[in-house]
Amino acid sequence: MSSHSVVKHSDEEKRLVALERAEELKQHIKGYREASKNIPTGFNLSHEFKVRRDQIREQLGATEEEWNDWHWQMQNRVNDLDTLRQLMPITDEEARHIEMVSMKFRWAVSPYYLSIMSTDNPNCPVRMQGIPIGRELQDMWGKEDPMAEEFTSPAPRITRRYADRLIINVTNQCAMFCRHCQRRRNIGEVDAPASLDEIKAAIEYIKKNSEIRDVLITGGDPLTLTDAKLDWILTELDNIEHVEIKRIGSRTPVTMPQRITQELCDMLEKHHPLFINTHFNHPKEVTDEALRATRMLAKAGIPLGNQAVLLKGINNDPHVMKKLNHELLKIHVRPYYIFHAKPVKGTAHFVPTIQEGLEIMENLRGFTSGLAIPWYIINAPGGAGKTPILPQYLLSMGKNHVMIRTWEGKVFRCANNSL
Ligand SMILES: *Cc1c(COP(=O)(O)O)cnc(C)c1O
Repeated sequence: MSSHSVVKHSDEEKRLVALERAEELKQHIKGYREASKNIPTGFNLSHEFKVRRDQIREQLGATEEEWNDWHWQMQNRVNDLDTLRQLMPITDEEARHIEMVSMKFRWAVSPYYLSIMSTDNPNCPVRMQGIPIGRELQDMWGKEDPMAEEFTSPAPRITRRYADRLIINVTNQCAMFCRHCQRRRNIGEVDAPASLDEIKAAIEYIKKNSEIRDVLITGGDPLTLTDAKLDWILTELDNIEHVEIKRIGSRTPVTMPQRITQELCDMLEKHHPLFINTHFNHPKEVTDEALRATRMLAKAGIPLGNQAVLLKGINNDPHVMKKLNHELLKIHVRPYYIFHAKPVKGTAHFVPTIQEGLEIMENLRGFTSGLAIPWYIINAPGGAGKTPILPQYLLSMGKNHVMIRTWEGKVFRCANNSL
């Protein structure tokens, strides 16, 4: 007879164990549920945003139809102090700072993005991304081009840091110039899309390098180009046999969702497999309009990802970041990356610590859906590549055993052998 005893539990006993565990699990989410109530989201502010939208629209003398037309949004980007002051209260000191910053760094915001900013709170996470402040000029630390993009460009408009993929930068235009922009040096004073010749030279480079299987179209914001120009670029890439997938990086779903039209979706759909990554940084940006845009793209069969940037005062908080990722999943967008902010000149006041990033990651894994967990990435200096940073779950690695710790901090020994 085997001495091996199997303890038998009744169904009732098993249920009791599960209920006790469920109580323990509920404790883990209490803090987030409490904090979450005070985090503004675009959906919760839907009514306020509508009121603001109508105010701004009337002030700018536009019809509903014009407001919903992305050309109108682009042409009416607010980029001067007088117009800004008509649309929201700005103190004399803020105004002085905006004037000073605008001599060094370009600024502009689409009327839509302006309509989701707080009018009375300078620390509004949307306002902080769009309206310049004096601290941009006090940055003694940042560099113009910390990623050395200028030394990783083997052909016009191309940045190549990896073996099998590269980016083409097709324009410096954006619907809104992020105050934390990593390519500030390219933004300049005026809109400057790449010339046809430059794009042709970039495409020629891709044709000649058969290991390139993934091409990322970026900027600036490529969705500020016309449908016809994008269609042409995508067709050129479709015609290169070794290019397996194409990606577009665009912030328009966040800053100018009017850009996502049925005509655009019909055009993009011809160029599958095509992926789009966008750039939401705060749950407040996840609005009814953003959902309309992302749902249309999803219906066109385009997988959507999000590349957030970890920004001091905007989203460097575990609860805010978790909420952002939850709101993103509601609009079909899969969190892809959280980038540690780079030390770009004029943006140092946004750079948080790496510990803060790690704390955010620690509070995601296990505490929420795996779908809501992006990778936390530090871009190595000099363009050496994206480097993932993770809390330590592997405690030790032996020949026969490894020690791990779980999301709750429970330590286990696991066999390290293959049978
Ligand atoms: C970020 C980036 C890519 C894409 O990286 P993934 O990790 O594949 O998303 C490709 N080329 C350059 C130059 C990049 O900066």
